[in-house]
Amino acid sequence: EAGLHCRGVGKRYGGTHALKSVDLDLPPGSVLALVGENGAGKSTLNSIIAGVVRPDDGEMTLDGVPYHPASPSEALHQGVALIHQEIRLLPELTVAENIFLGRLPVASGRIDRARMAREAGVVLDKLGVAVDPQRKVAGLSMAVQQGIEIAKAIIRRPRYVIFDEPTASLGGAEADRILEQVRALRDAGTGIIYVSHRLDEVMKIADRVICLRDGALVAGWERGHFTQQD
Ligand code: ADP
Ligand code: ADP
Repeated sequence: EAGLHCRGVGKRYGGTHALKSVDLDLPPGSVLALVGENGAGKSTLNSIIAGVVRPDDGEMTLDGVPYHPASPSEALHQGVALIHQEIRLLPELTVAENIFLGRLPVASGRIDRARMAREAGVVLDKLGVAVDPQRKVAGLSMAVQQGIEIAKAIIRRPRYVIFDEPTASLGGAEADRILEQVRALRDAGTGIIYVSHRLDEVMKIADRVICLRDGALVAGWERGHFTQQD
């Protein structure tokens, strides 16, 4: 079955039951918002899906295939990307170098900078991020840097993307820009998990919302059952 599906996924850290038998369904081309207080288990769940943490229990499938990533690069290889909350770009490298960092085929020998800049430019344009791919990251605004983080995640064309509080360090207009980028990805068929504390954003972007509390799913809403006023 198409989509990302988790059944009975659980995780303990010593005596802490961080995640308790969570079921989750993320169809392609949709946005699932994940909400809950600090310590509810949101990042544990995301880390499991992104291959950062191994679950103790449960099964996952990705587009009908068993999915048990052993590392973030394995997850990415299978089509799942995680966009971290913190910006982790290297300021002394160019925008294009940051986007391609660790992604270039080692065996190919000489790095073709023009090709790298061109491909980075295409993805940045698609995201509406106005920046020269050949300039250094140092000095760029937080909003542009967040856009570059997103470009870095999607250059490999993941079918599923996890956004972990992408607007946490941004102002209102910049946050709206991120929401537009999320919508564009969704409209292109990407399945998206969107973690946020901001209820207004969740209402704008989510097709479904699930709420974690003490490691368990305690509530879920579908769009259409919202009573939102535009
Ligand atoms: P959230 O992202 O919703 O804030 P987390 O997934 O970070 O929640 O945390 C869920 C629970 O698991 C918390 O009680 C937290 O303290 C605990 N926890 C998370 N990561 C670890 C870890 N690496 N070692 C021990 N406990 C952890
Ligand atoms: P693909 O997955 O499309 O076969 P590769 O694995 O060969 O591509 O390369 C991964 C990415 O790096 C692609 O976006 C590709 O265009 C780019 N790339 C490949 N070779 C070079 C090079 N020599 N210099 C710069 N970028 C390259």
